[in-house]
Amino acid sequence: MKKIIGSYSIDTKSIDSLLTQKNINQVFLQLPEGLHQYVANIINWLEETYQVTILLDANPNYGSCDLPSEDMLKKINVQAVIQIGHLPIPSMQPEKRSLPTLFVNAQSTLPVLQIVEKSLPHLSGKKIGIVTTAQHLHHLHEIEKLLEKNEFDPFIGKGTTRLFSPGQVLGCNFTAATTISKNVNSFLFVGTGLFHALGLLLATTKPVIIADPYGNQVIDASTLQEKKQQLLRQRYGAIAFAKQAKRIAVIIGLKPGQLRSEYALKLQQKIKNAGKQTILLAAETISPSFIDRFPFIDVFVSTACPRIAIDDYNSYRKPILTPIELEVALQEKKWDEYVFDEIN
Ligand code: SF4
Repeated sequence: MKKIIGSYSIDTKSIDSLLTQKNINQVFLQLPEGLHQYVANIINWLEETYQVTILLDANPNYGSCDLPSEDMLKKINVQAVIQIGHLPIPSMQPEKRSLPTLFVNAQSTLPVLQIVEKSLPHLSGKKIGIVTTAQHLHHLHEIEKLLEKNEFDPFIGKGTTRLFSPGQVLGCNFTAATTISKNVNSFLFVGTGLFHALGLLLATTKPVIIADPYGNQVIDASTLQEKKQQLLRQRYGAIAFAKQAKRIAVIIGLKPGQLRSEYALKLQQKIKNAGKQTILLAAETISPSFIDRFPFIDVFVSTACPRIAIDDYNSYRKPILTPIELEVALQEKKWDEYVFDEIN
């Protein structure tokens, strides 16, 4: 059975088998920003169909890396967690959590083949790596066939265990692309927004074309190259600032799938070795107001979600660096070794 919500289709099979269990009467629900407009509809559907009480996580949820603590869930008497709109991160082993934790993908119902067809004249070379995000993964093989029919040689890469499926990219993991980068001339990214495509460009250095089914547009390699240069100029500026900084804070992200505490400790040691002052900060959520609480810090280094340092650059009063950018600032790496920060 499928439940259609807006332009998404939700397979209800796993929800049926979880919520028809007698011992589950209170459920913690997490939704990504894109589904929040349907929140009342989703809660009504779940409560009425399964006779359960839904507690909605009112914090923003950007990925399956962000799961609530089980102690907290027990205190509020919840017996299961459902996250709709994300695929699980296998390396987090969500099946080992003591409370059942279900990830239910929200597949886009928009057609993709028409926009992919439009993108074909923009592709460089014949060997094409195909990547996409969770909501379009079910179209991957149709896209592959369409490319073959048009005499391209498509490749779909298998990344690390942070990824649920071959061909999938996350904002923090492009290994489904980097593993095939040597074999392809360019990448076709099927999805929306520039973030994944820019990450791909930085991670693989191959040309990228976006076929965007939501915007019904193709974004070509030259537009993306310009955006890449703009992004690199921003990052170069942040690194130059960090070279002069006296006090650098290293942030540990407390969300379970973003936790890189050992890495943070190593970075802190590098800062000390460079003769700079440093403190470690631990936080669930990093926001401009969080950064403003530490006016005595010149620069922050985030080991949490790599999107924070890059995406919201203009919202922060102080530069936030990725770990790799810190290494460039401390002259442990050269600028031409710059790569996108990824969590594996
Ligand atoms: S770390 Fe960031 S990019 Fe990766 S899954 Fe979490 S929110 Fe998404």
